[in-house]
Amino acid sequence: MRDATRIIRSGLTRAVAGEPLHAGPVFAAPYHAPGDPTGVPYTYARAHNPTWTHLEETIAQMESAEGYTASALVFATGMAAITAVFGATLRPGDAVVLPSNSYYAARVLAKEYFAEMGVELRFANTANNAQAELLQGARLLFLETPSNPEMELADIAALADAAHRAGALVAVDNTTPTALGQKPLALGADISVASDTKSMTGHSDTLIGHVATRDPELHAKISRWRMLTGGVLGPMEAWLAHRSIATLPLRLERSCANAQAIAEYLSTRRDVEAVLYPGLPTHPGHEIAAKQMRYFGPVVSFILRDKLTAERFLSASKLLTDATSFGGITSSAERRARWGGDAISEGFIRLSAGCEDIDDLLEDIAQALDATR
Ligand SMILES: *Cc1c(COP(=O)(O)O)cnc(C)c1O
Repeated sequence: MRDATRIIRSGLTRAVAGEPLHAGPVFAAPYHAPGDPTGVPYTYARAHNPTWTHLEETIAQMESAEGYTASALVFATGMAAITAVFGATLRPGDAVVLPSNSYYAARVLAKEYFAEMGVELRFANTANNAQAELLQGARLLFLETPSNPEMELADIAALADAAHRAGALVAVDNTTPTALGQKPLALGADISVASDTKSMTGHSDTLIGHVATRDPELHAKISRWRMLTGGVLGPMEAWLAHRSIATLPLRLERSCANAQAIAEYLSTRRDVEAVLYPGLPTHPGHEIAAKQMRYFGPVVSFILRDKLTAERFLSASKLLTDATSFGGITSSAERRARWGGDAISEGFIRLSAGCEDIDDLLEDIAQALDATR
């Protein structure tokens, strides 16, 4: 079966007459577990919940490919999932190679907590596989491709190879493409981690993250981290996420086609200084993206002249909701430099293409750009 069919049908219950097609959320803290708890599948819900299990089976299937079967663990947020990866793999004295332009909060977490506890942090850009230079003696290589918000590309297969030769584990933040758009484990990574708050669930209403791996030992370590730290996903959120993921194939196809059309249109405008989208043949990472990604993603970054121009553009647009985050069915955009933390210009806009009619989006973007003159 193909991915879209598997994803859409993965939430179905067994065909028992009179039963619903999809299981509802299970709200539980303890479960019935008399006597010896060995072999009881569910005992206490900080460790496991059947609604998580259903969702994890779907995500694991998405992260699997020919030749291996992945397993997945769901978390309350993408940051909880990233924290679990760092916490389960890094010890004082270990070195981790991080992207200097990755998702901001992951870098702050590493600096404010893990470095303070004796983990050595090494930073290099995502583009040109620059992180490969820093692998000597490292315990973990952490990648994010495309990087956020600058849309730089790294070659996962090449870097995973280099990292493994240096004895390092490889984790990829796969938030932007989702497991349907890019399979880090199939490309050689040991861990695929993502914020499913973005495209994966796509309705701008749930926070969720996951970690997938093909190694049972890593899975056990990360599962133990989740059970002991305890900031777990609620069953209602797990259920909503599962329901939302069923439409990922439809949403991703549409939003990525819209993103491509928007990137192409922006490239024709003289008032746009640069368009950063891996789907453009002119993008420096296009070749790598074409090799390792199935879709080029919903995020299009572009640069307008200055802060005022960017602000005018956003207020003149009627269809780009001015909000952070990305990957929702509603198109959105923001002036990214308002947050600080990224080395980007004041006129930098991160746009997330949603699922609206592309002609409406293009007309709106054109009039909003015209309004900045
Ligand atoms: C949003 C995001 C995160 C963090 O996810 P939350 O669900 O907000 O905790 C991590 N990595 C990337 C690339 C993101 O875009």
